[in-house]
Amino acid sequence: FSPIHIIGGGLAGSEAAWQIAQAGVPVVLHEMRGVRGTDAHQTDGLAELVCSNSFRSDDATANAVGVIHAEMRLAGSLIMMCADKHQVPAGGALAVDRDGFSNAVTQALHDHPLITVVREEVDGLPPKEWDQAIIASGPLTSPALAEAIRNETGADALAFFDAIAPIVHRDSINMDICWYQSRYDKVGPGGTGKDYINCPLDETQYNAFIDALIAGDAVGFKEWEGTPYFDGCLPIEVMAERGRETLRHGPMKPMGLTNAHNPTVKAYAVVQLRQDNALGTLYNMVGFQTKLRYGAQAEIFRMIPGLENAEFARLGGLHRNTYINSPILLDSSLTLKSRKGLRFAGQITGCEGYVESASIGLLAGRFAASERKGESISPPPATTALGALLSHITGGHITSDDEPGKRSFQPMNINFGLFPELEPGSIVKPEGVKRFRGKDKTVMKRQLMCARAIADCRHWLGLPPVAYETPADEL
Ligand code: FAD
Repeated sequence: FSPIHIIGGGLAGSEAAWQIAQAGVPVVLHEMRGVRGTDAHQTDGLAELVCSNSFRSDDATANAVGVIHAEMRLAGSLIMMCADKHQVPAGGALAVDRDGFSNAVTQALHDHPLITVVREEVDGLPPKEWDQAIIASGPLTSPALAEAIRNETGADALAFFDAIAPIVHRDSINMDICWYQSRYDKVGPGGTGKDYINCPLDETQYNAFIDALIAGDAVGFKEWEGTPYFDGCLPIEVMAERGRETLRHGPMKPMGLTNAHNPTVKAYAVVQLRQDNALGTLYNMVGFQTKLRYGAQAEIFRMIPGLENAEFARLGGLHRNTYINSPILLDSSLTLKSRKGLRFAGQITGCEGYVESASIGLLAGRFAASERKGESISPPPATTALGALLSHITGGHITSDDEPGKRSFQPMNINFGLFPELEPGSIVKPEGVKRFRGKDKTVMKRQLMCARAIADCRHWLGLPPVAYETPADEL
């Protein structure tokens, strides 16, 4: 076989290289560090962890990140193999000795007879003679390559910043207080006129909320993040600082909305949440991009009526991140629709996190190797963590009633909101358990989703099934 070229030897590129080589196909891995650095990496090692040394929860029975770990192990992941080998104590989390981990990945790739590592910056799209390539150049893609991607995909398709509004699990929103309605009941393409969840605030609640936002603890911009705020993406706390009424005339305006629970009383301000994934399990807080610290966000946003028990799939943020509008640009095998043979992997596709980036590298590598070998491969089912994340990247695109066609794709960690719901009737009170509360149901739902994911992943990989029973003693 002729080689598959990979640009970027980070978490995704290293895993993709390993998967391809293990499938018997040669790889050339182009990594610029050693010749040119980034603003965050400190070493020349492959798969360097730029910040925390944690791969987060390793609990595959009740945690979405733990499940993706387990699925990657089943698929022979190099990243997981090296992480397991260089684990340091961290409770239920999988944390690693960062140098030991990166050195092990680097060594394994150098030692593989089918992998060649070239230290160079690729400063444009892969040349035509690289008939198969994967771009895995990460959130800090070098400017020349970013420019080339932008030219190929269109200016609107490449983002250089995340301006992330918090995302809430729908089933944690109190619908006795909130109601479904689009502003002025507007019905857009595919909409119903009831596409938003609305949270009403009276004057006292609004003022208390503004005070909390202004007093909230925000994260400063790091020097390398460049020009801070840009048009249309002001952090909510910065808007609040500009004047007490600013939010009431901006993202919190109450016009065109009638409280279904109390139609005669006009809300003083309204927070709107918009459906964020095709499954309808996640909603984002419209216009609520923020640089408040995570702890402060949870506390302040739970002051909003209806969100008092909100569970956040992700909190808001605003930071440097290069990523493409994958749901529009990529097919389900991560191939750029406009250019056959060119795939994307890792954080640049719109996933977030070390493990997620590596997992998308794993999929891109498997898809590319199969294509090179003339074999067909189907994507993992959406019930697996790998498939759920892939579906978010390549298919979970939602446009809103008010702004048809508006880009709403945001980078995402793996979380239960990305998994399809269980079959109705799956959650039943276990025998011998006396009290079976809402909290217990959530635990059971997560356990069942985890078990289903692993069983379906085994099936996708052609591995024999294993028996699984819900650990009722944990309820
Ligand atoms: P990377 O691991 O960054 O790999 C991309 C590689 O491509 C790099 O080695 C780079 O040198 C190379 N490259 C770039 N351009 C070129 C080019 N033109 N030619 C050749 N090579 C090129 N996630 C977490 O889970 N936990 C954290 O604590 C965390 N902290 C982060 C902190 C920062 C500052 C940033 C930016 C991100 C952080 N992330 C974190 C998010 C993300 O998980 C990591 O960035 C992760 O490394 C992404 O994996 P990747 O393979 O997509 O990119």
